[in-house]
Amino acid sequence: MSARIHNFNPGPAALPLPVLEQAQVEFLDFKGSGMSIAEISHRSPLFEEVINDAVSRLKRLLKAGDNFRVLFLQGGASTQFAMVPMNLLPAGKVAEYINTGTWATKAIKEIEILGKPHKVIASSADRDFCYIPKGYDVSQDAAYLHYTSNNTIKGTQWSAPPVSGNVPLVSDMSSDILCKPFDINPHGLVYAGAQKNLGPAGVTVVMIREDMLDRTPKDIPTMMRYTTHAEKNSLYNTPPCIAIYLVGLVLKWIEETIGGLDSMEKRNQQKAEALYGYMDASGFYRGTADKDSRSLMNVTFRLPSEDLEKKFISEATKNSLGGLKGHRSVGGCRASIYNAIGPESVNSLVEFMKEFARKNG
Ligand SMILES: *Cc1c(COP(=O)(O)O)cnc(C)c1O
Repeated sequence: MSARIHNFNPGPAALPLPVLEQAQVEFLDFKGSGMSIAEISHRSPLFEEVINDAVSRLKRLLKAGDNFRVLFLQGGASTQFAMVPMNLLPAGKVAEYINTGTWATKAIKEIEILGKPHKVIASSADRDFCYIPKGYDVSQDAAYLHYTSNNTIKGTQWSAPPVSGNVPLVSDMSSDILCKPFDINPHGLVYAGAQKNLGPAGVTVVMIREDMLDRTPKDIPTMMRYTTHAEKNSLYNTPPCIAIYLVGLVLKWIEETIGGLDSMEKRNQQKAEALYGYMDASGFYRGTADKDSRSLMNVTFRLPSEDLEKKFISEATKNSLGGLKGHRSVGGCRASIYNAIGPESVNSLVEFMKEFARKNG
């Protein structure tokens, strides 16, 4: 396995090695069926076991009660930007949003396109989204409050969900779901494209509270209704079978190898502290997010010049440290240290950063 690099890609991102190895072993003959998981019917008992196992594991990890349903959908997190207001915003109500970056802005753009009533109650646009807003007032008759729990591009993260009283929260958790325990109960819905912290691209996990399903109107297309997918256990049409299978293996790895979300959080905190701690002490690298808003998952930073950033990324790549380029919209550098990234990868990165600063500082 010597050819595998330390993979800091922002998404699609690294998967745990034991997951890839199990998939490799099972790929040609899934559980004695003589077929690949890519070749079996989504309505076969074999696949039903795969999807039900993934559902149970996710609910166990999040301590979600029977009033939560797990859906495996397609179209990425980006489709949820539209599905959420189409389903959860009844006539006469207003949806509220907190704008913390590129993805939140895109979610707001979709409700604008739909022409539905909405209000942005807080934003960190004034300082290029380098912090999580602290003051906001949620109207108690809002249909829901949408927030982005981790801002993949700007490198900020909510340390705890916003406080919304009786208003159901809706969260885009694409880049930090399962990185630490969180209370799902005040949420009416959470969604996450799998390709950052849950598995490969091609499936979006939605967890929806049952009372939210009552809001779905009858006049939206079948595939866009949460009720369609909830009633059929995500098997209304052909789901992305391989992606769901891999998500199941990742959930098994979190439960059985890591030991659940408390251990996951500890591991993620240690990784983040190693990286931020060194950066802050270095006098060479500069974190771009406010300290109290920093993400455990996406560490964004600058070097003294853009030329040095280019050199840094290119030399890192030669040293088997991949994916460190910042998003094309913001430049700079970003190390995505999702769940699958082990502490040894972060340590290798810190060692490389030290050496680079010594030579170029
Ligand atoms: C990557 C990302 C998205 C977009 O996900 P797609 O599955 O590509 O649509 C949305 N929100 C956040 C927070 C992301 O990190």
